[in-house]
Amino acid sequence: MNNQHANAVAQLEKVAKLLRIDYKGQEKAFDSIINRLKEPDVVHQTKLEITMDDGKKKKFQAYRSQHNNARGPYKGGIRFHQDVSLEEVKALSTWMTWKCAVTGIPYGGGKGGIIVDPRQLSKKELENLSRAYVDFLTDKIGPWVDVPAPDVNTTGEIMSWMVDQYQKNLTKKGLVQENPLATFTGKPLAMGGSQGRDEATGLGGVMVLEKLVAKMGFKDKKKVTIAVQGFGNVGYWFAKHAADRGYKVVAISDSKGGVFVAKGIKAEEALAGKKEKGSLAKFYPKAITNEELLELDVDILVPAALENVIHKDNASKIKAKAIIEMANGPITPEADEILAKKGVILVPDVLSNSGGVTVSYFEWVQNLQGYYWSHKEVIAKLLPLMETSFAEMWAMKTKHKIDGRMATYMTAVKRVVDTMMLRGGI
Ligand code: NAD
Repeated sequence: MNNQHANAVAQLEKVAKLLRIDYKGQEKAFDSIINRLKEPDVVHQTKLEITMDDGKKKKFQAYRSQHNNARGPYKGGIRFHQDVSLEEVKALSTWMTWKCAVTGIPYGGGKGGIIVDPRQLSKKELENLSRAYVDFLTDKIGPWVDVPAPDVNTTGEIMSWMVDQYQKNLTKKGLVQENPLATFTGKPLAMGGSQGRDEATGLGGVMVLEKLVAKMGFKDKKKVTIAVQGFGNVGYWFAKHAADRGYKVVAISDSKGGVFVAKGIKAEEALAGKKEKGSLAKFYPKAITNEELLELDVDILVPAALENVIHKDNASKIKAKAIIEMANGPITPEADEILAKKGVILVPDVLSNSGGVTVSYFEWVQNLQGYYWSHKEVIAKLLPLMETSFAEMWAMKTKHKIDGRMATYMTAVKRVVDTMMLRGGI
C-alpha cells in the first residue's frame, strides 16, 4: 500500500537538498530542523468507546497528529473514514504545515481521524463518537494550540457538536475563558461560521486560474478550455466561478461519469439537470468516462475529486497544457515526473486548494474578534492571499527552473525553517 507519510518525507528530503544552499554556515541547524520536520511533534491516539444504539459498547481507533506549530497553532481537519491510518494522519498533518506556510497564514499543521465508516452509524452514534473524540482532545486543542476543522465525512453539524462538547468540558474544568468557537472552524453560520466558506476552495482555485492563464499567455478567456473532474463542493464552485468569468468549461464529471459540451457548461444548469434526471450523463447528450475526461485535449485540467487519479499508466496520455490540482494528491509521484518531462505546467494542491483553509483562518479571526465580516469582505481578503501565493510559486519556479510542486514546497519549507531558526534551541 502507498505509504503517504513516506511520500511526505521523500518530498521534504528532495526540497531540503535544493534549499540547503541558502543556509551557508547554518547547515547543522538546517539539517536538524529538516529531521524534526520528518515526524510530527506529537501524535495523540486512543481507542474511543461509545455505547451503540443496541446498548453494546464499541471501540474506535482515533488519532490527532500535531506536526509543527512554529508559525502558529496546529491546524487541520478531522477525517471519519474506514481507511484512516496513523501514516495517513501523519502525512496529512505534514502537508497542512506546508499549505498554511505557502498561504502565509499563521498556522502550523495538524490532522485528525477516526477509523470508522460513518454510514454504518446512526446519527446518535455519530454524535456520541464526535463528542467522545472531543473528550479525548479537550486538553490538547484550543484557539492558540490546535484548531480542528471538517475533512472527509465530517460536516458543519459535527463541528457544532464538537464545539458544544468542548465548551461543556471547559466549563467543567473552570476554563471558560478559552474561546470555544475559535477552537473549530468549518462551522455553520449560526454557530459562528464565516461567510464564503462553502465556495472558498473552488473560488480560490479560480483566482489561481486567472493568474496562471495570464502567465501562459492566453489573451481570450472564452478560448481557454477547462475539464473539471468531480462535481462536489470543490468541483462545482470551481466550474461555476470559472464559467462566470468567461472560461469555457467543456467537461465535468462525478462518480457516475462525465459529460462533454463543446460550447461550455454552466454549473448551476448542470446541478439542476443532475437533480432532475438523476445523473449528468442523462441531462447532456455526450457522456464520457472519468478516464476520458482526464485525457481530453483541453488547456486546463482540474482534478477535483479523488487522490491518485493521474498515475504512471495514464500520465503520458494527458493532453492538457496545465493542471490545477484541486483535490488533495490527485497525481502520484511517478506521474509527476512523466508530466514534468512532457512540459505540463502544474499548480499543486497545497497552493490551489488553499482557499478553504484561508477562509477557515478568517473564520477563526472573526471568532476571536467577535466581529463578523460580509461575504464581500471575505472574498476581498481571500484574493490577495491567493494571488501572492501564486506569484511566489511562479517566481521560485522560474528562478530554480523547477516544477510547480517543488517551487511551492520550497517556499513553504523555507518559511517554516526560517521561523524555527529564529526560535532557536535547535
Ligand atoms: P465532495 O464529496 O463534495 O465531492 C467529491 C466529488 O467527487 C463528487 O462529485 C463525487 O461524485 C466525485 N467523485 C467521487 N468518486 C469519483 C470518481 N471515482 N471519479 C470522479 N469523480 C468522483 O468533496 P469536495 O469537498 O469537493 O472535495 C474534493 C477534493 O478536494 C478532495 O480531495 C478534498 O480532500 C479536496 N479538498 C476539499 C476542500 C474543501 O473545502 N471542500 C479543501 C481542500 C481540498
